[in-house]
Amino acid sequence: MIVTRFAPSPNGPLHLGHAYSAIVAHDLARAAGGRFLLRIEDIDGARSRPELAGEFRRDLEWLGLEWEEVPAQSTRLESYEAAAGQLAAMGLLYPCTCTRAEIEALPPRMGADGAIYPGTCRDAAHDPSRPPAWRLDIAAAMAQTGPLVWKDERAGAIAVDPRQFGDVVLKRKDAPASYHLAATLDDAADGVTLVTRGMDLFAASHVHRLVQDLLGLPVPGWHHHDLLIDEGGQKLAKRRGSPSLADRREAGEDGRALADRLRMGEMPSGLRLSQSLNGVA
Ligand code: GLU
Ligand code: ZN
Repeated sequence: MIVTRFAPSPNGPLHLGHAYSAIVAHDLARAAGGRFLLRIEDIDGARSRPELAGEFRRDLEWLGLEWEEVPAQSTRLESYEAAAGQLAAMGLLYPCTCTRAEIEALPPRMGADGAIYPGTCRDAAHDPSRPPAWRLDIAAAMAQTGPLVWKDERAGAIAVDPRQFGDVVLKRKDAPASYHLAATLDDAADGVTLVTRGMDLFAASHVHRLVQDLLGLPVPGWHHHDLLIDEGGQKLAKRRGSPSLADRREAGEDGRALADRLRMGEMPSGLRLSQSLNGVA
């Protein structure tokens, strides 16, 4: 059975781009007689506003979607802790005490997620006075797994190459897991068979596939959909003048009709679907 999910972070209100993402995931599941899950990804420390989860549910209902909600990430911290412990025991995590400013001051090597961390702390003694983040030693991990492949429904089979991220953080200084670790574990725990999300997270799937192999998790398929962008090639955001779904709902707009237009590819004026932001993936 196909199981898809929509996994918003309650860091701000949902926009049309989120609506599109939820509709794609919902419809892929419904078309196959499968299940569509909602998971609130609320471990983003100070940025997370749990009260937004209620708004998200009202937004999805307004769009005419039906879903099963699975437990929010904040209730699953022990599983993240256990997985990080397992990777540490395999010798694949190392503590990093670099600040963002320190990393940015290094000669830049740009990757999928911004500047690539050059591995400064990999072989350095760890300063116990500074709280560390824990990074995955990508080269060591790849040496353990050997070559891996992941499959996207639209892009086909892709050889895993997580080096474009450098040694990613799996356990943050200020949170029990990073997005990469938490989302990968949760998709496995929730029985997700088709990870459905925007092209902006395409490259993250290299890391997730690697983590799945290291932890012996089931391997889903992926469906990365196009992104809804504005005239400047940016994702929609309130600060760029795009009303949130809650704004539209409260203004009395018909959410089901809006969902149907998005399904048919009729985007509101000035908006379009694109494989990437600003023409760069
Ligand atoms: N929580 C992530 C976000 O809101 C999405 C994660 C995912 O779909 O894998 O951007
Ligand atoms: Zn470091």
